[in-house]
Amino acid sequence: MNASSEKRIRQLHPALAFSLREIIARLADRGLVTEIVQGLRTFAEQDALYAQGRTKPGQIVTQARGGESNHNYGLAADLCPFVNGKPNWDAPLDVWATIGAIATEHGLEWGGTWKKFLDKPHVQLPSITIKECASCHRTGGLPAVWALASTRVGWEGHASEGRSVVASRRSVTSRALARGTTGATEKRVTVILSASDRSLWTGGTLQITVTDLFASGPRIVFRGKTDGATIELRLDLPFDAGQVYALAFSAPRHRPAWQFIRRQDFIRAPEQIEKDDLILRLMIVPEKPGTTDVDEGYARLLQTGSPFAAPETGIDASAFAGLDVVAQMAFLNIESKLRETTIDGAPLLSFVRDVRHVAVDRVFLSFDVALKARMPRAPEFAGAPGHPAPRTPSDLPPHPDSWKHTKFAEGNVQLSFSREAEQREAAGSASLVHSADVDIDLGRGLAHANEWLHNNVFEPGHTTDQALVYGLLYAQGILPAYTLDPLEPAGSRSLPRSTRRKLAPAAARKAKRRVKKRRPS
Ligand SMILES: [Zn+2]
Repeated sequence: MNASSEKRIRQLHPALAFSLREIIARLADRGLVTEIVQGLRTFAEQDALYAQGRTKPGQIVTQARGGESNHNYGLAADLCPFVNGKPNWDAPLDVWATIGAIATEHGLEWGGTWKKFLDKPHVQLPSITIKECASCHRTGGLPAVWALASTRVGWEGHASEGRSVVASRRSVTSRALARGTTGATEKRVTVILSASDRSLWTGGTLQITVTDLFASGPRIVFRGKTDGATIELRLDLPFDAGQVYALAFSAPRHRPAWQFIRRQDFIRAPEQIEKDDLILRLMIVPEKPGTTDVDEGYARLLQTGSPFAAPETGIDASAFAGLDVVAQMAFLNIESKLRETTIDGAPLLSFVRDVRHVAVDRVFLSFDVALKARMPRAPEFAGAPGHPAPRTPSDLPPHPDSWKHTKFAEGNVQLSFSREAEQREAAGSASLVHSADVDIDLGRGLAHANEWLHNNVFEPGHTTDQALVYGLLYAQGILPAYTLDPLEPAGSRSLPRSTRRKLAPAAARKAKRRVKKRRPS
């Protein structure tokens, strides 16, 4: 977002601002840069705009006088595609339609659907009429209009002033705390840090960074250090207008473990109650992880009867061994994610009929025909663009119908289905299936912020890989049934404890793994 968009978004109703940030990020994910070219407009500005093309030169651009537009109440914005930093008003219709479709998915009304005065850039909060806005405004001004709009769209956030400080504590019990000016927006985040073998982090001092991603350009709001594996952060920061903060923990020779924090992370389903505390589990993954346990992962698939390794439907041990190690990790990660992700209570894995092809970053599967029909119904899944037919293998169809699990901020699974169902022999019986391309999709409109942080703040030149995906899955409470071995750093004399653990007998490690708990509910 450019500086003007940022300035305009801050003048809008927080529910609209929140949606717009997500919409813009999702469009950016699809390679479509959009900026907010109009936001809150005063009554006088609206009157001047109304005069254009009527009593003043120019083209008619509005049907509304001062007080007659949602823009006058901060409840509407105009979004325009940008090319090379300039608005592209002549963008093709499908570009506008994409903007409209995504805005609609995020609950906004799109002017492109209006019969009377087609207004393609225009999006607004639904459920409140201009008449209601005007009458509220006469009695209580803008705050009254916003309060009514909040009620109508179910927005519970409240406007609050300014950000203050972030304070950190080394232990959960300590009470020492630097406080800001207001406790109203304070959120408590307990972070439990693990090494890549899932034991608590004992690898030494970690640098903590908290970055405000939606200040005008990411801005670091807190820096600190910790020696402990469990720390508590008190975030005395506003969370009322779609802000996103990145928490990062870094150590030498390791990738930073990070997590985005947004207001919705504090809202617990299904009651939709906002809490002030959050527990995060993050994994510190070594820069050069070993993957000797990946073989163990395959054995585990056999043990659990996973369709990924079952006779006839899966791939066999020798085919698995022949895969690139990155592909092996993708294969295991995707299996874990499908096992942990449920739709109407059933794991996605239970719909898998056979494995068709394994690539370095994705797995092509056949899913029972029943699954695709159920996908759009689940609120945790959101529509996303699909994929054309892969180049290899050549017998796979295009996969245009795509759904992405959106429950987590990072590391979502994306399934892209073939349009038509087909008859397929799997496990000795013919069944009707869709072909699907399954990958772990990093980010929910936040991948770019993530990349930006990695490339510019934490680690210039960094690129995402399966080791990072592994850490992200862990952060979601999804434990792939194998561990990632930290390799001994060359020439290092004092090994961190997590590295020494690798040398412990495998049986001891296995016993330890069995008692690991799933993500607390
Ligand atoms: Zn507009």
